[in-house]
Amino acid sequence: MAEVKRVYKFGAGQTEGKAGMRNELGGKGANLAEMSLLGMPVPPGFTITTTTCNEYYTLGRDRVLSLLEADVRSAIAFIEGEMGAKFGDRENPLLVSVRSGARASMPGMMDTILNLGLNDEAVLGLAKRTGNPRFAWDSYRRFVQMYGDVVLGMKPESKEDIDPFEEIIEERKRAKGITSDTEFTAEDLQELVVRFKKAVKDRTGRDFPTEAMEQLWGAVLAVFGSWMNDRAKLYRRLNKIPEEWGTAVNVQAMVFGNMGDTSATGVAFTRDAATGERLFNGEFLVNAQGEDVVAGIRTPQPITIEGSRRWAKLKGVDEATRKKVAPSLQEVMPKVFEELDAIEHRLENHYHDMQDIEFTVQDGRLWMLQTRSGKRTGKAMVKMAMDMLAEGLIDEKTAVERVEPEKLDELLHPVFEKAALSKAKTIALGLPASPGAASGRIVFFAEQAEEWAEKGEKVILVRLETSPEDLRGMHAAQGILTARGGMTSHAAVVARGMGKCCVSGAAGIEVDYSKRELKVSGGLYKEGDWISLDGSTGKVYEGQIATSDAEMDADFAHLMELADKYAKLEVHTNADTPRDSKVARRFGATGIGLCRTEHMFFEGDRIKAMREMILAHDLKGRQAALAKLLPMQREDFEGIFEAMAGLPVTVRLLDPPLHEFLPKVESQIQEVAANSGVTVEALKARIEGLSEVNPMLGFRGCRLGIVYPEITEMQTRAIIEAALKLKKKGIEAKPEIMIPLTGILKEFQNQRAVVLRTAEEVFREYKDRVNFKVGTMIEIPRATLIADQIAQEADFFSFGTNDLTQMTFGFSRDDIGKFLPYYLEQGILKVDPFRSIDPEGVLELMKTGVTKGRGAKKSLTIGICGEHGGDPTSVGYCHELGMDYVSCSPFRVPIARLAAAQAAIR
Ligand code: PEP
Ligand code: MG
Repeated sequence: MAEVKRVYKFGAGQTEGKAGMRNELGGKGANLAEMSLLGMPVPPGFTITTTTCNEYYTLGRDRVLSLLEADVRSAIAFIEGEMGAKFGDRENPLLVSVRSGARASMPGMMDTILNLGLNDEAVLGLAKRTGNPRFAWDSYRRFVQMYGDVVLGMKPESKEDIDPFEEIIEERKRAKGITSDTEFTAEDLQELVVRFKKAVKDRTGRDFPTEAMEQLWGAVLAVFGSWMNDRAKLYRRLNKIPEEWGTAVNVQAMVFGNMGDTSATGVAFTRDAATGERLFNGEFLVNAQGEDVVAGIRTPQPITIEGSRRWAKLKGVDEATRKKVAPSLQEVMPKVFEELDAIEHRLENHYHDMQDIEFTVQDGRLWMLQTRSGKRTGKAMVKMAMDMLAEGLIDEKTAVERVEPEKLDELLHPVFEKAALSKAKTIALGLPASPGAASGRIVFFAEQAEEWAEKGEKVILVRLETSPEDLRGMHAAQGILTARGGMTSHAAVVARGMGKCCVSGAAGIEVDYSKRELKVSGGLYKEGDWISLDGSTGKVYEGQIATSDAEMDADFAHLMELADKYAKLEVHTNADTPRDSKVARRFGATGIGLCRTEHMFFEGDRIKAMREMILAHDLKGRQAALAKLLPMQREDFEGIFEAMAGLPVTVRLLDPPLHEFLPKVESQIQEVAANSGVTVEALKARIEGLSEVNPMLGFRGCRLGIVYPEITEMQTRAIIEAALKLKKKGIEAKPEIMIPLTGILKEFQNQRAVVLRTAEEVFREYKDRVNFKVGTMIEIPRATLIADQIAQEADFFSFGTNDLTQMTFGFSRDDIGKFLPYYLEQGILKVDPFRSIDPEGVLELMKTGVTKGRGAKKSLTIGICGEHGGDPTSVGYCHELGMDYVSCSPFRVPIARLAAAQAAIR
């Protein structure tokens, strides 16, 4: 049997991996290897594969440790050779970092340990060699703290609990009368280490490990363990990252950005991650470790002079202040900047994509710690793809593939209405961390954001800074406001990933968690007060501000043009009104795939006529009520047909159970009884008579039209008359009449006959004709199985995957809230089948439906109109099945167009 390779070295001519090995080495490991191969300055190290992480869960820790032992020891020896230092040595200790690195980037989700290899003796060696005892003790204190938290379980479970390490630090500060960590002396830090270790012993009953190899094994296992922590699980679920991927572990020689004023650490992007502009930008901190930049506790400085000037403009500060407060790396360390800028160009040209890089400067020497494709806003994603296409860096197909369909959502989102904005009062200014507009009530805690959002409240999560624990709350909020942190702070990075509006680092706001108050420019805002954020300008406003639809720019239009060039599927829309139809056309819909006629009955006085029809005692009474509804329906159809002139419009006949139109609460029952001229008792009896145990499996769909053919007659008449009226005006209408919930051939035959007969009647009356089609929803499992029979009589099929999913799983689509979240958490289901088509069951039925349908009638038009029609993965399945179109809500049309193109390209 071939030997399994679990450990890959990188650095200094000995690199064993490469960028293409992302699945095995994780993104970070693969790119560290690639940068080493490109001859860039990367501290030497090694990567333990993602497969080993899976082995940890299947074979157990002991077996995995013995499988790794020899290779890890030899890789450590390699690093020792490169660095001229020895792991665990008291004179010249080699220190390493241990970090996770999954296939897909999961910022801040898993754990990191720095300065591993220090103990009470090695720290003295480090102090002597660097001539900087304070630095050595600070490194040791950070190590004990991180190791204690991550490996030894010292981290408090919740934010309310006391963090033992933080408590010790605060105590020491109080005793010394100082306010900042930076004021600690070497002796203070030494004292902290002693007390930290005692806290570990008190809490865990174990001594802090002193032996370097023992420390290393603990850290490696902790990284494997962190793959299954709650944060990581949630992040994976939100980002659809499979659990089987596992994480790699990267062990790398430490380089120090905190060795004094010639050292620094930073993060940079080769293009602007918010706007997409080709501007090298980022942030760095002098005399700091990487975690300091990301944590957003100190406000970092920009990388380029241009960035620094923009910052100054945003903050309204003059050139002298700018130079003092936020001078750029370009100014502070010009040589390092030059080298970094050259690397940044090479990396973009090499990867053909925007890179997000991390670097450290140790004593004036630049080290690259990471490169990866940078996360970006939807807007930036589109702009970068189109710019790179124009620059010749990528071709058309790559440009189309570069944009995540879901991210287009951000471009389509509303912005503040200009008029409303001009009256709004600006109360603070922060950094424009993630674009979009958001209004909501202030909440200060993530849990509360979730609770309030569940009750239907719109909330803005306001925090000093965010951490991965706040993820759920950020997700639930409309927007996020933080007092601290830059553009690369946790809040900014995560919000951009979520496409959520975020303003970060809003200096001048004071957050008081205990009083649940926000103080700003003399004003006081309490929990529950409304504020608004503009994530594109960084402005914070008082109160609620009206929003208007987003405007699509030239890059977006260009992308859509390219998408249509490659897509095979057409994209139609689900729209019930002329207004929605117009919106959908603007987004590029080439037809209406589903017009749910029942929605029209809820408007204005129509509900009265509808109720009259339901309450009627006999056919005559029903016909009289339907006669009132006819002109209203006809007018609606005229509006829709006109908005969609020349494009197909699929109108579905009445679908929901009748009791949905009747009142539910006592006061309404009385009112309706009075208006309808029936007694309260009679009305109640009718409501009772129509009530069902399983309404979704009850008297609905074509069953209504079969029992009350006059409903189908009225609707057909309204559709055909509308088309004839438009024909007179010279406007072409292409109606397609759709029968809902067909499961038996005779059901379809029955309704089709009513439609055809009625249409002929209308044609005779009008002495004119129009072309129209009659087809059916395929949404009952049985319909997919007898699709060949139905196809012989139907002009088209439209898969109703909402009902098809409901009936295939036997899950009530209205009641899944009680168990689906649990199913997803437990991994019983990987994705919500109502969001993305279930590939094992529902998709199989669809396959059967398509094959049988087309087998019986080659020319059969087939589409989908369930919610899945706007889900990129499901659009991919529909492409595979050779369907003609997908239909989705207007705002998802561009997403589906792009997904259709990507499916055709792949
Ligand atoms: C469906 O079932 O997928 C569908 C589109 O119809 P509705 O959601 O109206 O039941
Ligand atoms: Mg349905």
